[in-house]
Amino acid sequence: MTAGLFTVDPAAPAGQTEPVTIWICATCGVEHPDTEAPPAADCLICADDRQWVPESGQAWTTLDELAAADHRLVHEELEPGLHRLSREPGLGIGQRTYLVRTPRGNLMWDPPNHFDPRTVEKVASLGGVAVIVASHPHMYGSQVSWSEQFGDAPILVHSADRHWVRREASAIREWSGTLEVLPGVTLVTAGGHFPGSAVAHVAAGSEGRGTLLVGDTIMPVLDSGWVTFERSYPNRIPLSPGLVQRIVDRLAPYPFERLYALTGGRIAADAKNAVHRSARRYIDWITGRHDDLG
Ligand SMILES: [Zn+2]
Repeated sequence: MTAGLFTVDPAAPAGQTEPVTIWICATCGVEHPDTEAPPAADCLICADDRQWVPESGQAWTTLDELAAADHRLVHEELEPGLHRLSREPGLGIGQRTYLVRTPRGNLMWDPPNHFDPRTVEKVASLGGVAVIVASHPHMYGSQVSWSEQFGDAPILVHSADRHWVRREASAIREWSGTLEVLPGVTLVTAGGHFPGSAVAHVAAGSEGRGTLLVGDTIMPVLDSGWVTFERSYPNRIPLSPGLVQRIVDRLAPYPFERLYALTGGRIAADAKNAVHRSARRYIDWITGRHDDLG
């Protein structure tokens, strides 16, 4: 574990105390710095070829607007110690937030892009937040607001993607490679979608056979027991065969029976084999092995 990971620099500015306007990109749901007017430029995250800026132009909302909008919170305990929080109707990319409970505190994985008293209360009732990690920059959500709410909990940002952070905070820490962030919970750099795209391996999950939280590094397809891989799901841009193989290789040391994606999709059993056979199918097609069938 990185030294000082959970130590907040006492010289750093404290969390927000004044009411401020937090601007949220309406398309990706990522929080931006508090300024009087919304950012003048398009959202950097959405201007990238993995996202999109609507034809009608960049749209902004605020954290307060989202909290006031009519919505409900869906809470599910997926397996002992693994909880999922979803906002309905969905927002931005429609991400789900996963909370992994451990005796040393909770991992908040893919933090919500909204922030409201009901969700705060639910998270607090589950033991709060010890550390916040987004699988990749599209999932930064309102990570700074959530950190401030829970005692400036460390926000781990992958070094390779650090430049995508829109709202800075003293709680942000960089990581790379692999990192056991809490006992039995290991972050693994899988790459592909972003150089720092990460998965979280929960060793005690799936009755001790391992559970993987994958963001969208790996995407379950319908309810089929298969997955796929893309650089951009909204823009239907595939990943290269080399990057898909590298994801598989980087997961090789970790057993996992189930996996859960940011959309709520999952593989309920034998997930590691599902990833392997799906990667083989994908690579066969994208390298032209089946071109005689097209
Ligand atoms: Zn955006």
